[in-house]
Amino acid sequence: MNLSSVVVVWFKRDLRVSDHAPLAAAVASGYPVIPLFVVETDYWETPVASRRHWCFQHDCLVSLNQSLCHLGQSLIVRVADDALVAMQALAQTVHIQHIYAHEETGNDWTYQRDLKVRAWCHEVHVPLTEFPYNGVVRRLKSRDEWSAIRNQRMAQSLIAAPDHLLPLSVSVHSDALPRKIDPRFGAPLHGVVQKGGRVDAERTLAGFLEVRAKDYLYQISAPGASELSCSRLSTHLAYGVLSMKEVLHSLNRRVKGLMPDEKKAFSRSLAAFRSRLSWRDHFIQKIEDQPSIEYRCMHSGCEKMRPLPGNADFLHAWEVGQTGYPFIDACMRNLVYQGWITFRMRAMLVSFASYHLWLDWRETGHHLARTFTDYEPGIHYSQLQMQSGVTGINALRIYSPTKQSQEHDPEGKYIKQWVPELASVPVAYIHEPWTMPPLLQTECGIQIGQDYPAPIVDHQTAIRSAREQISAVRKQSDFRDKAGKVFQKLGSRRRQPQRRKKSHPKPSDDQLSMDLDD
Ligand SMILES: Cc1cc2nc3c(=O)[nH]c(=O)nc-3n(C[C@H](O)[C@H](O)[C@H](O)COP(=O)(O)OP(=O)(O)OC[C@H]3O[C@@H](n4cnc5c(N)ncnc54)[C@H](O)[C@@H]3O)c2cc1C
Repeated sequence: MNLSSVVVVWFKRDLRVSDHAPLAAAVASGYPVIPLFVVETDYWETPVASRRHWCFQHDCLVSLNQSLCHLGQSLIVRVADDALVAMQALAQTVHIQHIYAHEETGNDWTYQRDLKVRAWCHEVHVPLTEFPYNGVVRRLKSRDEWSAIRNQRMAQSLIAAPDHLLPLSVSVHSDALPRKIDPRFGAPLHGVVQKGGRVDAERTLAGFLEVRAKDYLYQISAPGASELSCSRLSTHLAYGVLSMKEVLHSLNRRVKGLMPDEKKAFSRSLAAFRSRLSWRDHFIQKIEDQPSIEYRCMHSGCEKMRPLPGNADFLHAWEVGQTGYPFIDACMRNLVYQGWITFRMRAMLVSFASYHLWLDWRETGHHLARTFTDYEPGIHYSQLQMQSGVTGINALRIYSPTKQSQEHDPEGKYIKQWVPELASVPVAYIHEPWTMPPLLQTECGIQIGQDYPAPIVDHQTAIRSAREQISAVRKQSDFRDKAGKVFQKLGSRRRQPQRRKKSHPKPSDDQLSMDLDD
């Protein structure tokens, strides 16, 4: 049988048609193009996948299909166990001349899947060309070279969307896109989901650069206000609706075109935004260089520091926002409802779970991965480890829930919004309602311990115990040596270590270099 010859563009977390090297290469090949997306049902059974992710991705796929239809060929969707199964089935109906894709730096599941696809391509003699993705460098020889390669890549011109795609000469079956409420995508969703798709991504980027960035630096850590003043681009970047290069080029244009009267208000914020975009690639590069950080502590000396499994009651209380610490619970409930919370609050939630509740990041990480709409493995596991003190190269950062609460929500408005049980509690007690005299509790119509939990751990006792256990681990004779090796492989080169005489450079403090202030 003579099968029709085609090339395949395998879309993964790059759901756009512009600045898309695989699509451009496929068009340049002169063959009809199958733009393929595989809904991989095995992936959706992993503990990090959630309906929230699917809802966002669904919007992106609808939008991608619209863009492709304008180019003359709709998106071909296949629902299969994984991409390999889908490609094997596709190869029964068309003659695949070439597969083009981006290098995906995801989690272990996607990595293993990519290896299987590559092996199959080799076996059936179908060339597979993968293009670099954003600022992540595959087979990086030394971390010292990363920044220069990334910057050079980002300075390149954008790749224009193709004018049109050669239509297929045969009909290729496309499965229906599963609905957002399809039972295969996990537990029902309670809350709202950020809107996905190119139109929203472009609008979000433009709105941030033109207007919202003005308040970015001042409100970046404010729960509530940060929802508007942060860029909110993380999910659009995670699903590749915008490329990093597209965002950076827009940023460059905006900075260049700032009017004199805008400079004061925007310059610092836009510079801070630029460095965060660089952190994004920096963190994803870590999992590219060392995929095991999804499962193993960067510093092997910390591997058994916390029990696994940990205290199940603590884990549950933390996940549902019932720890008895109002600000922690407000942040968690806000996050669970909206699928997004600002960096500082993410860090605080992990710090509380890791130090106060002494839970291992591998347990808390699954809940957060499902809850963050922008789940991005490279950032996620690096940050979880940093905020849990298991990298060996970052300063320990133990947040006081009461201090954070007083600083970021002095009037308790945010707490009352997300923990309505505490609506009647006077401001003087809102940060520590367990200190309310019993009579006042009765007057306010609330009983701490019944209507809202008393703290599940005592702050001072918990952090004293955490410090002692961490200090014991850090006293291991080879701790510094191992930390030096972690730094060599994964550490930020933004601040060069001062003393270079030692055989291993002194570990840098990624976190301090990120301007965190407590
Ligand atoms: C425990 C923990 C887990 C996290 N998990 C994720 C995750 O799965 N996916 C994710 O995108 N971000 C993650 N972050 C980083 C950060 O919190 C989010 O990127 C940011 O809050 C997203 O909001 P934004 O797009 O408005 O960010 P902005 O502040 O507007 O920043 C612009 C962009 O820079 C990048 N960025 C910002 N902060 C960081 C950072 N600290 N590290 C790396 N890149 C950054 C993001 O791509 C973001 O979209 C995590 C942080 C912590 C503490």
